[in-house]
Amino acid sequence: MVLPDIKSLRREELAARFAEWRLPAYRLDQLLHWLYERRVTDWDAMSNLPQDLREKLRQHFTLQTLELVDKQGSRDTTQKFLWRLADHSLIESVLIPANPALYGDSSDRHTLCVSTQVGCAYGCKFCASGLEGWKRNLEPHEIIEQVLAIERDHATHVTHATHSTPPRSAFPDRLINNLVIMGMGEPLANYDNLIKALTILNAPWGGGIGARKITISTSGLVPQIRKLADEPLQFRLAISLHGATDEVRGKIMPVNKKYPLKELAAACDYYQKKKGRMITFEYILIAGVNDLLDQVEPLSKLALKLHAKVNLIPYNKVEDLEWERPSEPVQEQFLKALEARKVTATLRREKGHDIDAACGQLRLKTERALQKTGV
Ligand code: SAH
Ligand code: SF4
Repeated sequence: MVLPDIKSLRREELAARFAEWRLPAYRLDQLLHWLYERRVTDWDAMSNLPQDLREKLRQHFTLQTLELVDKQGSRDTTQKFLWRLADHSLIESVLIPANPALYGDSSDRHTLCVSTQVGCAYGCKFCASGLEGWKRNLEPHEIIEQVLAIERDHATHVTHATHSTPPRSAFPDRLINNLVIMGMGEPLANYDNLIKALTILNAPWGGGIGARKITISTSGLVPQIRKLADEPLQFRLAISLHGATDEVRGKIMPVNKKYPLKELAAACDYYQKKKGRMITFEYILIAGVNDLLDQVEPLSKLALKLHAKVNLIPYNKVEDLEWERPSEPVQEQFLKALEARKVTATLRREKGHDIDAACGQLRLKTERALQKTGV
């Protein structure tokens, strides 16, 4: 029998189990403290839990961590982490130093971009994550561990005395206060595990990350966008638009055939009205595909109608794919044309994009290298 991982359970589920075992409530608080504040990776580190309880936990649950395979980038810039899961699948996370202009509020901390699936079934033509197809959904604990494993790594480098920013909780070694669900996979295609993981990462007894600091990005799964609007938590929503007409979007995103722009816009409208928050349109600029000025008019109309902000992102070259990013003047011209129509828009201009590439690329490279060497 495959044991569930302890970090895939909500507090209520664990409380029910502890009640069955006739344990006092404070034992659960102690356990959660070890899991989410101290982020221990071994049952035996839970020193104030009695030996027989540790044994019982070991028999009923796994306590999995992610194995770090590769890390690129330096501590002050964007860092990419490549992880190996228990079944040897590879996923990645990207840690980005605070950039207030991009997602969410201003912050002096870090944003983490997490993966939700191994591979992706949606096959957008420009994206590395979909190139090798979809393998499986991530379990809640595998989503949560991307945050905990990086904070664990960080905590070993930081002494409390030198930490200058105020603590998010009683533990000042916490690093991540913004999450973007923009790594490998389509988050809304792994809906239940995603919501469970985010509920735990948001809970005060868990990750303690505010729901308003969590942005979920989707290629546009209409029924799930509506379902998300009905959830109690106030997550931010980003839509990977990349084309403002069905013709252009349909060419690069097969999902547009299933959920064309009209239906997508109606679902966004529902989300926006329900949550009262601005949504974001992600718009990658790809040379000769969607960077022509004929997209500006329909994009402006859509953005203004839905109170959406537009994030323009120069395309990151993916090995083996034909697409290219447009020149800087073309990018600037596209931005200016949007601004001239009173659309709130930003253009990502930072340098050093060699490792800041979209999620999925590091895994692709590694998997191909492993195949070559026959490992
Ligand atoms: N599946 C979800 C979330 C993961 S993709 C979605 O599509 O929204 C996260 C973002 O990275 C999306 O906006 C996606 O379109 C973008 N992206 C994918 N490949 C890219 C590339 N090569 N360069 C720049 N952005 C890319
Ligand atoms: Fe999947 Fe998003 Fe990549 Fe499309 S852009 S293939 S939905 S990860």
